[in-house]
Amino acid sequence: MARVARKAGEGVDRVGKILYIAGYGRSGSTLLSIMLGNHPGIVDVGEVAFLAGEWVDTRRTCACGQPYRSCPFWKDLPPGLLEPEQAALLRRVERARSLPRLLSNRISPEQGRAYRAVVSELCDYVLRRSSASILVDASKSARNATGRFLALARVAGQDVYVLHLVRNGLAVVESRAVTGSNLALQGIEHKTRFPALQATLGWVSTNLLVLLLARFVPTERYLRLRYEDLVAEPATTLRRIAGFAGFDPAPLLRRLEQGEGFRVGHEVGGNRLRHSGVVHLHRELPQAGARLNRAQRLLFTLLGGWLNRLFGY
Ligand SMILES: [Zn+2]
Repeated sequence: MARVARKAGEGVDRVGKILYIAGYGRSGSTLLSIMLGNHPGIVDVGEVAFLAGEWVDTRRTCACGQPYRSCPFWKDLPPGLLEPEQAALLRRVERARSLPRLLSNRISPEQGRAYRAVVSELCDYVLRRSSASILVDASKSARNATGRFLALARVAGQDVYVLHLVRNGLAVVESRAVTGSNLALQGIEHKTRFPALQATLGWVSTNLLVLLLARFVPTERYLRLRYEDLVAEPATTLRRIAGFAGFDPAPLLRRLEQGEGFRVGHEVGGNRLRHSGVVHLHRELPQAGARLNRAQRLLFTLLGGWLNRLFGY
């Protein structure tokens, strides 16, 4: 179990867990992490793997609307913790290219020590500030965070529970191809020429990698969950997650029953939902892929149909 180091005089050591949402973007991770963050014992920090990059980009703000450096949650981060040097270190350990080194335990001792120090300082800060004992990290598994959940467990020695969130690939591709990527929508990234192809390949490869990496995680530390089940049966799904990660689901179930909605916290990254203040769960899902054209649907069926079937779609 990973101990959350606490300074002398601040009370007893507390055990902290990381509930890591793995998978591809546009799979509902923002919604799920915001919901979980409404539990008094859980803090949701969104795509925290990218905090160091966002910290230096003045166009990006915390979900509360404030620039990170003036956000009441993040502003007291230890100075020097998120310098470009640390951002580069996290990327070097967590990116897809480092997987062979990560899987064969060939991360150098110095790099391992430095990585462990940054991760534990950040986790300690988040858990102390929120008084929570479970940290939800919704960094997922694409781009530079492919190996993150494994690195957090193997290199940083954290207590990691992997929640692999999947969503019907047709709906994901539709969301990317028809609506555009989150970053492109915000004018930060250029639109791509073949968004459906890119999203199909991204959805297949990212989910495949998570399935592969899950083999290196103890069975009881990996849970695969379908976004559609969260939407259709939220109470049952939240109970399942609670049983998996070891918390009492009652506060979340009460909120669901009373239709109160789920408050957005101080999340990093994520989609436009995070700027809505309070999020409500809508139970109807449109038919997946209805807005894709025939060629885009065929492309997905050829490249990703088999994986969709494996996930039960
Ligand atoms: Zn904030």
